[in-house]
Amino acid sequence: MLQMQKGTGLGKVLQRNATMQVLTAEAPVEAARYGRRAERLAGLLRLGLPVPRAVALSFDTVRGIAEGRMPALAPILDALGPGAIVSVRGSPENPDWGGPGTILNIGLNAERAAGLAEILGRETAIAAYANFVRAFAVHVARLDEEDFAAGPAASAEAALAAALTRYEEEMAEPFPQDPTDQLAQVLRAMARAWQGTSARLLRQAKGAPPEAGLGLLVQRMALGLGRGKSGAGTIQTVCPETGAPGIFGRYRSDAQGLLAPPPTDPAHHLTRADGSPSLEDRAPDIFATLVDHVRTATAGMRDAVQLEFTIEDGDLRLLDAVPVPRTARSALRIAVDLADAGVLSRDEALMRIPPRSLTELLHRRIDPRAARDVLVRGIGASPGAATGRIVFSADAAVAAAARGEPCILVRHETQPEDVRGMHAASGVVTERGGVTSHAAVIARGIGVPCVVGAAGLTLDLRHKRLIAPDGRNLLPGDVITIDGGTGEVLAGGIDTEEPALDRAFETLMAWADAVRTMAVRANADTPAEAAVAKSFRADGIGLCRTEHMFFEDDRLVVMREVIFTDNAADRRAALERLLPFQRADFAELFRIMADQPVCIRLLDPPLHEFLPKDRGAVHELAAAMNLPVSSVMARIEDIEEFNPMLGLRGVRLGITMPEIYEMQARAIFEATVEVGRDDVAVVPEIMIPLVSARREVELVKSRIDAVAAAVRGETRTDFDFRLGVMVETPRAALRAGEIAQHVRFLSFGTNDLTQMTYGLSRDDSGRFMRDYVAQGVFPEDPFHTLDPEGVGELLEIAASRGRAARPDLTISICGEHGGSPESIAFCQAAGFDYVSCSPFRVPVARLAAAQVALDARSVAASG
Ligand code: PEP
Ligand code: MG
Repeated sequence: MLQMQKGTGLGKVLQRNATMQVLTAEAPVEAARYGRRAERLAGLLRLGLPVPRAVALSFDTVRGIAEGRMPALAPILDALGPGAIVSVRGSPENPDWGGPGTILNIGLNAERAAGLAEILGRETAIAAYANFVRAFAVHVARLDEEDFAAGPAASAEAALAAALTRYEEEMAEPFPQDPTDQLAQVLRAMARAWQGTSARLLRQAKGAPPEAGLGLLVQRMALGLGRGKSGAGTIQTVCPETGAPGIFGRYRSDAQGLLAPPPTDPAHHLTRADGSPSLEDRAPDIFATLVDHVRTATAGMRDAVQLEFTIEDGDLRLLDAVPVPRTARSALRIAVDLADAGVLSRDEALMRIPPRSLTELLHRRIDPRAARDVLVRGIGASPGAATGRIVFSADAAVAAAARGEPCILVRHETQPEDVRGMHAASGVVTERGGVTSHAAVIARGIGVPCVVGAAGLTLDLRHKRLIAPDGRNLLPGDVITIDGGTGEVLAGGIDTEEPALDRAFETLMAWADAVRTMAVRANADTPAEAAVAKSFRADGIGLCRTEHMFFEDDRLVVMREVIFTDNAADRRAALERLLPFQRADFAELFRIMADQPVCIRLLDPPLHEFLPKDRGAVHELAAAMNLPVSSVMARIEDIEEFNPMLGLRGVRLGITMPEIYEMQARAIFEATVEVGRDDVAVVPEIMIPLVSARREVELVKSRIDAVAAAVRGETRTDFDFRLGVMVETPRAALRAGEIAQHVRFLSFGTNDLTQMTYGLSRDDSGRFMRDYVAQGVFPEDPFHTLDPEGVGELLEIAASRGRAARPDLTISICGEHGGSPESIAFCQAAGFDYVSCSPFRVPVARLAAAQVALDARSVAASG
């Protein structure tokens, strides 16, 4: 066990010094003053673990050094032991902020190298000195790295001589021999490197404040050299990939650093499982002690740690204990196992996992061992891996899907008419666009892997080819793979792995469900999406957009007939043919969700979305409807609007063509009765979109009530249903009090509400959003992250007016924001009953809801 020099005069001098500390179990070493590494080492000492003697220099001291105020160094060296060879390591407050690399073997000079040679042998001692000279030359004297590269010298002696000569030639002075002088130069170089412009910009890009400080640790070296039991390595007791228990790490005998050992060299194995002989074979006692130290450090630091260690002639020393670098998957397993072992509470384990990181676990991914032939790197917009044949149009994607052939849809950018193709494709690539572009938002919603902004690709639609930056030509039918997490587009097919939803995931989710107070539903339009929602344990469907049910070919034809009718009777007759389809759709959803709430939104989009756009399709439609092309064109022009998002859509369709909503309500009620006969109990929820006035609700409600009464009479079956309003216009939010008198729930459609509150087009604002965010006009894209101030205030007003009018009113959000952790925090604070989001975001929302509930609980406890 290491004894600190508390008793010596020099130790005392440093201990009283607020800007330098000899590390001891008692020394007050906070990360905010000395950096994270210094704090960790002090923590290891407190746990009774063997750390080489070290002196920590505070941020202030290091800043002073950079500005030319070098502290007295002799006391530092004396505190580390007479004749100590030392290292200097950086200790920033946050390891992500970077910092200068470690310099080893400071204090070696000709005389000491000769002394060391007596212990370690000449070759080893001289090699260590030569390494120091090279590191000093490059990192301290800033000489050219190539001039000091460790080439194939005849002997260590020759290599040292070459390095010393080179140094002297370049610096016009001999290599410094005085250890204090060497240390001063190293400290100055490191302190100045931290203040340099590029280091400053780099760390500020990672979120470091302008005044971020660097601490430095001057530490006695445990040399790790020699033919006895000496070496260096890392060890951890969890698998970095999966988090499963096991011993992992690297070891290199007769070494000071963690250079990657040649894998075939048997002297460099850590465990027997890596190969024999290993450290485990050769020094079982040290190996067992190391494993024990990992356990002690894990419990003491309350996290899985990786120990960095050196063994000097059988003497084990720990140089650091850093949190195990982890993947999303291993982070989850580590948190759950630590809670199971009693190191963390379940609540703490829940708080350790960033909700968004779960996204990585929910999608198929490329086998990490597979070789990647990268064609181009774009922006990862929707996670997951997909392999398929290239198609260049939505139609081709739909055709490929019909043949059962996986395909990747490649477009310049996508538009609403590509959505069917996106559904059909296994993956989507766009040449243009960013994380909020149409392709990105839609793909995330439907869980299709997507890469956007793959600007290196040239999509040459005229010659039907895709040209990669290296000139490779890809044609329709060629196979590519995309990684929607990293944004890579790869040539050919690659092995993929299924999503890693293991026991730890289920366990953490169960803990989340036990603490959250808000329900989490899914936005699901199709049986497939409902099945995903169910598998992710959504608490029901919060938004079923029924228009998607009309896009399948056989229905689209009938829907177009509905649009082409010009009187209510004909329209009713056409709708009659859609009724069985709708009834079957709803019955299937009710059965999948089995007894859970299903909220169905009545038809919302402007009718032109159901009509063809290109000339060929217009001709086909004319033929199918037995009408002249001119009549079809005339009708299309007739319903065209300048501003369709503010035009005849939502409840306005329900008011002007009431037969549509009547048919939908009938389908919902008949499906309710049908599944009820099989003991599936449903209380369907019917939601009216785009309301802005109370009278709209009264009119639609009276018609729906009449349909309910009719179906009850015809089927001689009683059933209940809940009617609600989607609050998507600012007026509906302001008039929520009077609207709530007629309905049982309000659900905020924050996509439209954001659009209308800002007067920003959901579809076009991508063009300038990047500039707006870059210039700080908006802190974030408000379609992505709920605007808590403007849109948020409307939500709060609506919720309070609605609840004042009707205390048992259910309040929720079903816009894209329902799956964003920041928006979920807002909803919790505003007292909403549930959030609804796309099925693949349900686990993220469940964990986020648990975290905000825990936050609320701790605020309540402390207030
Ligand atoms: C909304 O507007 O927030 C919403 C959920 O409806 P849609 O996105 O279908 O317009
Ligand atoms: Mg809407």
